[in-house]
Amino acid sequence: PVVTRFAPSPTGYLHIGGARTALFNWLYARGRGGKFLLRIEDTDRARSTPEATEAILEGLRWLGLDWDGEPTSQFACRERHAEVARAMLENGTAYKCFSTVEEIEQFREAAKAEGRSTLFLSPWRDADPATHPDEPYVIRLKAPRSGETVVHDAVQGDVTFANEQLDDMVLLRSDGTPTYMLAVVVDDHDMGVTHVIRGDDHLTNAARQIHIYQGMGWQIPVFAHIPLIHGPDGKKLSKRHGAVGLHEYAAMGYPAAAMRNYLARLGWSHGDDELFDDEQAKAWFDLNGIGKAPARLDFKKLEHVSGWHIARMSDDDILAEIATFLAATGAAPLEERQISRIRPALEALKAKAKTLPALLDQAHFALIDRPVEIEEKAASALDSVSRGILSELTAAVQNASWSRDELEAAAKQIGESHGLGLGKIAAPLRAALAGRSSTPSVFDMMLALGREETLARLQDQAG
Ligand code: GLU
Repeated sequence: PVVTRFAPSPTGYLHIGGARTALFNWLYARGRGGKFLLRIEDTDRARSTPEATEAILEGLRWLGLDWDGEPTSQFACRERHAEVARAMLENGTAYKCFSTVEEIEQFREAAKAEGRSTLFLSPWRDADPATHPDEPYVIRLKAPRSGETVVHDAVQGDVTFANEQLDDMVLLRSDGTPTYMLAVVVDDHDMGVTHVIRGDDHLTNAARQIHIYQGMGWQIPVFAHIPLIHGPDGKKLSKRHGAVGLHEYAAMGYPAAAMRNYLARLGWSHGDDELFDDEQAKAWFDLNGIGKAPARLDFKKLEHVSGWHIARMSDDDILAEIATFLAATGAAPLEERQISRIRPALEALKAKAKTLPALLDQAHFALIDRPVEIEEKAASALDSVSRGILSELTAAVQNASWSRDELEAAAKQIGESHGLGLGKIAAPLRAALAGRSSTPSVFDMMLALGREETLARLQDQAG
């Protein structure tokens, strides 16, 4: 069975790169009936905060990536990590190194002066334990000195590292705390992780981590190191490209389903398919489809993907998304009265909006109450002639069946009697119903507002 994991360091918010890594792991596991685990890599006590952990979990929840079981804390497993370091000492794949910081510094300076590699070679590597002093020590990995280490990567292919470039890294510090490199391997092994999908900034680490797996005789997981996300200009993604935190995208009003679709396509592809739902993505997602070149952020594409998802969301889902969006931005939730006015117009609103705030902007007419405040741009549509037309229309539809056909016929007829097309009639109607010049179709608004509210708004402006 497939087991994947997302292993964020809780030092800030959830970056969209991290969100994409989590998504890939989630898709891979969920598409195979596997498990998706969460591990908080909080061993850096100075930089890790509970607030950052909460922000990351919040981001994952918003994105809809559910994980199995409770998130684990790497720091909480430090005893276990130390135990593994000692086991490697026992089986001879690690050794005690008593070299002091000063000695290591001296070694490096001498090596530099002589033009040799400055990679530290501990004199304790093959020392007879009988000669060990009663001094503090670190436990170092006894890494192979010659030959090569090959990372068989599902994305990068076989990546070869010369072993003479890899030093005997420290596994356990002299104060008994494990290093990050040891902790990751022990945790992945103990959690039963079968596939490690993560950023390619960890590729070199994989070469080193393999030696720990081998030292313990553990099965090496499948590695898939994915290229980082770049900005639209092809440079490494940074703040100056725009939003880099997942929460910023939530605040811009992209629905989570759209973000999942968009992030899935950022570095992974399935033929020419751009638009898909979760079920499709789970069925299609595979490590083969991950590209070797960094994906570029493309805000236009995101808008397009977002519009597609909004258009096909059920009314209940879109209302739930709106509620989440309003809560995230600290705005008041919609009231019942507003929801019942929006609902009938949702079909039309969803078809046009690319983001949730764009949808809410078009839904303005349904959110406001009388007296309708008329914006300056709309006010010019309300001259005496058009106010007279509003008055005629009010009378004409008073007893109409309130069907689109009948409302449209009434408006057309009145327009014709004044030698005006529907477009000309629509402007004062928009002004009266919404106070704006850009709105959904006037008939959509009339149907959504209902007879009573519509007539009241028309009467307010009728002359
Ligand atoms: N904590 C590491 C990071 O946030 C991830 C390590 C890993 O996935 O192995 O970059």
